[in-house]
Amino acid sequence: MVITIVLLCVQLITRCYGAGSPGPAACANLTGSLGITKVSSSPLSLKYISTRQDYWNTLQSRYQPSCIVYPKSARDVSIAVQAIRASGSRFAVKAGGHNPNDFFSSVDQGVLIDLGSLNAISYNATSTLATYEPGSTFGDLYAYYAQFGRTILGPTMGGVGTGSALGGGSSYLSPQYGMACDNFRELEVVLPNGEIVIASPESNVDLFFALRGGGGNAYGVVTKYTVQSRPAGQFYSGNVMYLFEQTDAVTLAIKNFMQYNADPKASIVATYLKLPTPGLGLNLDEAILTFLVYDGLDPGDAFTNFTNIPHVVETMAVRTYPQVIDMPIPYLAQLTRGNNIFRVGVHRSNDSSYELALQKWRDWAESNKGSYQLLAFNYEPVPQSLTDASKAQNGGNAMQMPDGPWFWVSYILMTPPLLPQSNYDSVQASFRAMVESVGNAEGLPLFINDANSDQNPLSTFSTYPQLQIVKNKYDPDHFFSTKTGGWFST
Ligand SMILES: Cc1cc2nc3c(=O)[nH]c(=O)nc-3n(C[C@H](O)[C@H](O)[C@H](O)COP(=O)(O)OP(=O)(O)OC[C@H]3O[C@@H](n4cnc5c(N)ncnc54)[C@H](O)[C@@H]3O)c2cc1C
Repeated sequence: MVITIVLLCVQLITRCYGAGSPGPAACANLTGSLGITKVSSSPLSLKYISTRQDYWNTLQSRYQPSCIVYPKSARDVSIAVQAIRASGSRFAVKAGGHNPNDFFSSVDQGVLIDLGSLNAISYNATSTLATYEPGSTFGDLYAYYAQFGRTILGPTMGGVGTGSALGGGSSYLSPQYGMACDNFRELEVVLPNGEIVIASPESNVDLFFALRGGGGNAYGVVTKYTVQSRPAGQFYSGNVMYLFEQTDAVTLAIKNFMQYNADPKASIVATYLKLPTPGLGLNLDEAILTFLVYDGLDPGDAFTNFTNIPHVVETMAVRTYPQVIDMPIPYLAQLTRGNNIFRVGVHRSNDSSYELALQKWRDWAESNKGSYQLLAFNYEPVPQSLTDASKAQNGGNAMQMPDGPWFWVSYILMTPPLLPQSNYDSVQASFRAMVESVGNAEGLPLFINDANSDQNPLSTFSTYPQLQIVKNKYDPDHFFSTKTGGWFST
């Protein structure tokens, strides 16, 4: 009944506004059906400004939505989806706003659904299951579950949003428990036709599969996550930072860790950073920051190879999980906001692609001084314990991750704010060519959470044909794939 009334209203309003204004038509309808407290159409309102400014890639703030909708329930999301569909407007779904790709969580002259008001959280001590709605950041979630001595799988920085889990979700705890999405137990989803369904091992099993690492907004809007929580006690952890002289030694330590570490409680992320200071071929502008995390008090010699190398900073100490996430400083994700893009590579750890990727990145940095404000190159290991843990839960995720060890490299390019468009385009093209020249390992999936929209990472999944079937089943008229951005397997 509600659905029919919504559709009738939309058709009426769309006619009044004319076919050329589907965004404002959808917004007028939504203001009527959801009320002015849940819809903001004025670009001058504080709420609208706050949502529009809140992107990690600040270039997304250029776009001006016709209105921003703040649903408070799955039913509100359903009403919004149906109204947008009926109007023919473009739209976007935004959780934490940390995906840097154009139109993934931003929209110009269309409806932006900001999930930030949908933020209930709970923990069941008997089942040890945790539930959360999509509007919190992972920093909020880690802080909440810490009071029960528990945590959930999610990204290594607190400001990142829950869309991260739909893209797989790589965590410090992944070597023990798999990716964040492997720990899903049930999802509540608003489908592209507005229907609210449950996806789980018992219900809509194909949808549950695709949403575990295949991305979010291709299949609908997830309005509630039920996940397996994990114990979180004390972590021996910290950062060790090195200067350029140690590049070779640190590179070897990382490679050895990725190939030989057998303790799944030990986890590392290693970041090479380049600043736009003069290079002169000496790499004086380079620093290496490692994040070393041990789930427990005694890492044995898991990190000795790192701590033995001469370093300039070392902060190893006992921490709670929220403190681990705040390393080296709280709000790091927010502090790195800028004109950012991601690219990703995938490689095996037993060949020379490890050194090749780093060398090409460093050469590019040296010959493109002035074209970037910050460059980062991250090694993200995928050990066999991770791929085993993934398979052990729900039969693995949408990536069907082949046995580790292997690794992803995530590249971040932050361009200067006032770069003219033609310079911006040529810098992006040159950076893309550099990453492509490294090549990727056959048979391994690119990580969608770190990918640029032009990399088509889903096509590297062995499950791509299966994802296409799921996509066509749940979005048969391609509403989502034609009206919003995201990872689509059509
Ligand atoms: C500083 C930083 C650190 C990071 N660290 C990690 C890390 O440690 N591990 C890791 O795996 N990734 C990491 N990432 C990558 C991150 O996971 C992706 O950028 C992810 O897409 C961000 O999710 P979000 O909710 O913040 O962003 P958003 O841009 O809001 O959402 C991302 C995408 O998911 C869609 N989406 C979001 N919520 C829903 C929903 N409920 N239903 C349907 N679709 C939805 C959006 O429409 C959008 O297309 C990091 C990114 C940054 C910028």
